Amino acid sequence: MSKKWVYLFKEGSASQKSLLGGKGANLSEMINIGLPVPPGLTVTTEACTEFYRQGKKLSDEIISQIEENLKLLEERTGKKFGDESNPLLVSVRSGAAVSMPGMMDTILNLGLTDIAVEGMAKKTGNTRFAYDSYRRFIQMFGDVVLSIPKYKFDHALEDIKEKNNYKFDTELTTEDLKAIVQRFKKIYRDETKTEFPQEPEKQLLMAVEAVFRSWNNARAITYRNLYDIPHSIGTAVNVQSMVFGNMGDTSGTGVAFTRNPSTGEKKVFGEFLMNAQGEDVVAGIRTPLTIDKLNEVMPEIYTQFIEIANILEQHYRDMQDIEFTIEQGKLYMLQTRSGKRTAEAALRAAVEMVEEGLISKEEAVMRIEPKSLDQLLHPRFDADDLKNATPIAVGLPASPGAATGKIYFTAEDSVSASLRGEATILVRKETSPEDIEGMNTSKGILTSRGGMTSHAAVVARGMGKCCVAGCETVYVDEIKKTMVVGDLTLTEGDYISLDGSTGNVYQGSIKTVAPAISGNFGKLMEWADEFRKLGIRTNADTPKDASAAIKFGAEGIGLCRTEHMFFEESRIFSVRKMIISDNVTQREEALKEILPMQKNDFKQLYKIMGPRPATIRLLDPPLHEFIPHDEEDIIELSNEMHVPVSKLKDIIHSLQEFNPMLGHRGCRLAITYPEIARMQARAIIEAAIEVSSEENIDIVPEIMVPLVGKKEELEVLRELIIETAEKVKEEKNSDLKYQIGTMIEIPRACVTSDEIAQYADFYSFGTNDLTQMTFGYSRDDAGKFISAYKEVGILEVDPFQSIDQVGVGKLVEMSVKLGKQVKPNMHMGVCGEHGGDPASIEFFHKTGLSYVSCSPYRVPVARLAAAQAAINNKDQ
Ligand code: ADP
Ligand code: MG
Ligand code: MG
Repeated sequence: MSKKWVYLFKEGSASQKSLLGGKGANLSEMINIGLPVPPGLTVTTEACTEFYRQGKKLSDEIISQIEENLKLLEERTGKKFGDESNPLLVSVRSGAAVSMPGMMDTILNLGLTDIAVEGMAKKTGNTRFAYDSYRRFIQMFGDVVLSIPKYKFDHALEDIKEKNNYKFDTELTTEDLKAIVQRFKKIYRDETKTEFPQEPEKQLLMAVEAVFRSWNNARAITYRNLYDIPHSIGTAVNVQSMVFGNMGDTSGTGVAFTRNPSTGEKKVFGEFLMNAQGEDVVAGIRTPLTIDKLNEVMPEIYTQFIEIANILEQHYRDMQDIEFTIEQGKLYMLQTRSGKRTAEAALRAAVEMVEEGLISKEEAVMRIEPKSLDQLLHPRFDADDLKNATPIAVGLPASPGAATGKIYFTAEDSVSASLRGEATILVRKETSPEDIEGMNTSKGILTSRGGMTSHAAVVARGMGKCCVAGCETVYVDEIKKTMVVGDLTLTEGDYISLDGSTGNVYQGSIKTVAPAISGNFGKLMEWADEFRKLGIRTNADTPKDASAAIKFGAEGIGLCRTEHMFFEESRIFSVRKMIISDNVTQREEALKEILPMQKNDFKQLYKIMGPRPATIRLLDPPLHEFIPHDEEDIIELSNEMHVPVSKLKDIIHSLQEFNPMLGHRGCRLAITYPEIARMQARAIIEAAIEVSSEENIDIVPEIMVPLVGKKEELEVLRELIIETAEKVKEEKNSDLKYQIGTMIEIPRACVTSDEIAQYADFYSFGTNDLTQMTFGYSRDDAGKFISAYKEVGILEVDPFQSIDQVGVGKLVEMSVKLGKQVKPNMHMGVCGEHGGDPASIEFFHKTGLSYVSCSPYRVPVARLAAAQAAINNKDQ
């Protein structure tokens, strides 16, 4: 028996999406459950693959199956292709297994010919309607099947309208339309050197081929690359008998969602137009009416439609996006699929569907795209207030969120204004590392230069702070402290508002609404927590980050970087003094000044964390990062420190490295300057002892040694930390417990994990550095080639964003396995960027890690992704 390439709608079902495409499978399903759907047939995705295998040709077998099924369609409808009194007209619609909107335009009214158009006129008693359909069909067919530029047809139409002084298409008479059909056929002839096909069967085969060809047009390929859709799956073609929404006042067409796609409210939401066809509703030619108005226009149809919407939602157990047409008082369903929705709507619909008993909690958790939660985790503008706002410029949407505040043009000014309690917006041409504090204290950042990966953009995203970058129509004068946009000049202290999700800049202030996990969001997060096995910690350097993360559900700190505490203005002087010291005594003097400040930082952190674990990492970056490099700053430092400029320069010079990333940093610093590690260990232990007794809790500090590659490094530093800790405990008469662990971020550490584990109480995989060193890609320079690598297909994803499971992941697995051979119960987590990436989280779940740690704003994403990972891998 030969293969089945063509299915009548009534032969298929929703389970056959890969064979019939989403649209075809759902049309079949709707017929199966008894809904009114115009009959039709689906040419399968396998026929598409076969078409390409045959060198872009439909095989005889496929053609004959199309023809056979067409006969059945004619019988079923009682109409005949090309008939002079009752012609069959069809739509030809593409539909892959995965929805790819806009890949190919639908062809309506196929089957019209010089004869059929007369049949159509007779049948409907409306010659104008018949010829109007014909001219639309010729244009659509010419455009979609033969790529005849649309404008050629448009020009001809305009020409006739102009000659007759018409404003609207509706003024065209039957005679005009007949003339237009002639003109269109001539355009077709001139462009293709062939006559417009007068055999409907031929039109159909040409259209089917065109759909199959469109699978590999540039637009479709780009789309699939963008959404990771395989190129091999092919598209199906649906051929469906036409119904007409444009046959007068009892006809119409519309689209509707079974729930509101932006809020999730359980109420049918949609629009329709009477006397209209196809996509007139979305084309914006006439303003459509909201769906409840249908109740006034055609109450019976409205009731029937609402019933069908309910049936579909109950049947698919999800919110549906439905297309329908009414032909002379009779309702037809033309499409259903699961509806696209905002994160807010997705949460509300999922939670309410559980409450309605439609789906289980597990299904609800699986329904939410973790990354979509991002939309809900930033301040947003109050919708009502936004309506009154005046947009003045648009830049790049560099970091999402909404911010409103007074403008300041230097980091310093912004910081002091924040200290006065003002909400500020930092406005700069571009930002640099010296602006960090100003960026941190401001509500939002606006730059006139730089792209999506500029300093401002990258740092702002890291901070979860709203940023509009590269806003080139804004002229920023940092000296005069003004920003000029067109005729408008704003000066220091004036209010602006930024929308980092759209890039919009507004004059004046707009109310913002703070993000919070409450209501449906909170409920879904609780359910996620019931399923997940991975712990969720956060990377937090400051008490502020830590408390934000706790609100989002963080269970601990996976990485606290202590160096950020060194940059603060009040202490950078002591830090620098420490760095330029000639000898240990001098250095210890300076460290003594830093100690109480560090201790206080840790105390604050512990107070916020309470009994939750917190991993604190010893100093990691190379020391030169703390030293000024500008001539002016060096002179200033020399005055402050009473050290000659020349000597300062010598020191700065001596700190310079060819490859700082691979240089004197991490545990190497602690080995060569043990007094720094001792100071930090003391600060941590003292803080923990004091807060434990003040708050009456048992804090167990986790001290983490970075960048270990050889067990000896950890061995030496472990001893040093223990020695310090025990001394402090004795002084304070305490029996505090503490853990000493290491960051696994050097390939050698992974490979020798069984040796290193002997000296570690815990591991934290620093997958950023591990990726950098495993690939040999510099994190700071990889931007230059990663996108090219993705285009060529060398890399599927950026390995700094989603973990490379095959390579870097294998090292993690190996390290976990070797480490657990030595210490089966050792806790191991991840603290790289990957800790907030859903695909990586699933991998870490499977690897058997105890937790992932991510930036505060990723915590809800990680909670959900961890739950989905657990559900996906239930059987393992
Ligand atoms: P898309 O995949 O872009 O949504 P469709 O294949 O759904 O394209 O077709 C677009 C529109 O064309 C439909 O929403 C419907 O209004 C109209 N249409 C398609 N098939 C028919 C038909 N058999 N009868 C009437 N209108 C149709
Ligand atoms: Mg469309
Ligand atoms: Mg559609």
